[in-house]
Amino acid sequence: DGRSGGIVIKDDWPGYSLDLFSYPAHYSGDIDCVIIPHGVIMDRTERLARNIMDDLGDHDIVVLCVLKGGYQFCADLVERIKALSRNSNRTIPMRVHFIRLKSYLNDQSTEDLHILGAEDLSFLAGKNVLIVEAIVGTGKTMKALLNYVEAFRPKMIKVAGLLVKRVPHNSACLPDYVGFEIPDRFVVGYALDYNEYFRDLNHICVISESGKMKYKI
Ligand code: 5GP
Repeated sequence: DGRSGGIVIKDDWPGYSLDLFSYPAHYSGDIDCVIIPHGVIMDRTERLARNIMDDLGDHDIVVLCVLKGGYQFCADLVERIKALSRNSNRTIPMRVHFIRLKSYLNDQSTEDLHILGAEDLSFLAGKNVLIVEAIVGTGKTMKALLNYVEAFRPKMIKVAGLLVKRVPHNSACLPDYVGFEIPDRFVVGYALDYNEYFRDLNHICVISESGKMKYKI
């Protein structure tokens, strides 16, 4: 139906050469290729906003932005939902709330999910919640977050994920709205980081081996 798994980027997709786009010179040598240019992210996000409007129009929602990696996608998605709300008869009254997770060191998932500054989300009771995440890998993080949020008894939970990685993950844990399905490679940019670097890069790129070494901690 065109909205199931998002745009599929195949394993043999070499990406675009960096020379074809502009990017900050401080990252030259640190990335191998552009896997999703910024403009394509924006175009896909516009369509996801419409799918969300079609499903949830006229419902109040609480947008739960998963920091830090999700801030750019969340901001752009909310912007497009706002544009639809002011240009059509259907609208989505939105509140935006932030939750901060940490599970990665270097390019490895650490076993335990930390909800930083975990707070009382009891205001979610009876609400429609849209969780907005940048990337789903194994799905462990999303599963843990769903369990956490469910405990506050919202009326409905939907998940929007910009990227889903093709790793052997639990398919029961796929987002309802997916931007792109990508190969199992470590990606950075568009707020996705490697040890806090690369958030200031607008395209989604594949980090190079030397980039991994340079910013390793
Ligand atoms: P999961 O629990 O699904 O394996 O991992 C999800 C989390 O790992 C994401 O929320 C994200 O923080 C991080 N992650 C997984 N893959 C990548 C990646 O390719 N790049 C970046 N920057 N983070 C990733």
